[in-house]
Amino acid sequence: MPVAAPAIEIKLPASDPAKAAAFEDLRARAMACVKCPHLASSRKNVVFGVGNIESPLMFVGEAPGADEDEQGEPFVGKAGQLLTKIIQATGLSRESVYIANILKCRPDTPGQSAGNRKPTPQEMETCLPFLHEQIDLIKPKVLVALGATAVEGLLGKTMGITRLRGQWQTYRNIPLMPTYHPAYLLRNQALSEKRRVWEDMLAVMEKLGMAISEKQRNFFLKG
Ligand code: URA
Repeated sequence: MPVAAPAIEIKLPASDPAKAAAFEDLRARAMACVKCPHLASSRKNVVFGVGNIESPLMFVGEAPGADEDEQGEPFVGKAGQLLTKIIQATGLSRESVYIANILKCRPDTPGQSAGNRKPTPQEMETCLPFLHEQIDLIKPKVLVALGATAVEGLLGKTMGITRLRGQWQTYRNIPLMPTYHPAYLLRNQALSEKRRVWEDMLAVMEKLGMAISEKQRNFFLKG
């Protein structure tokens, strides 16, 4: 992803101490959670979320992978580095948005030395109240759901991400943009797929009233 010079940063409201306190209480509850005993015993860290709780923009992914489990922060592995580049291409910084996952623990992979697995419906149902509370406190103006599992968790829709991406949805009155997970873009390097995700981000920028340069409009269009 190209890295754009910072455009107009979205205006963040002044921080609200009551909200920060409620968020810290929520974090403490998530950090101590043992509702999925198999995940509580296999995890290295609970990966609660990262970013600015006053942000109008929130990204939701699937679940922590090995790197995230190790570091206790979402989207820090290869897919996460690409997500950071996508965010920066809008002119925003990773620190100015909020990033969380459907599942706060890494799905365990017993008997496997590597690889990830999709969260089970039961794990998602158990963990989702934390994400709902995060969203209720942050109150973002726009949500971006990264991949099919994020859409399924937030909207209950199991329709393929290929059909849903790029089409505004609504989560509790908040506009939600479904787009491809950055891990998909790592597997499929086609310019057309990058452009699709970028078009979704342009729609998000428009919804947030962000300035969009001509250069940004043309990212990933063939010369
Ligand atoms: N993929 C996700 O969905 N979330 C992460 O935090 C990392 C990779």
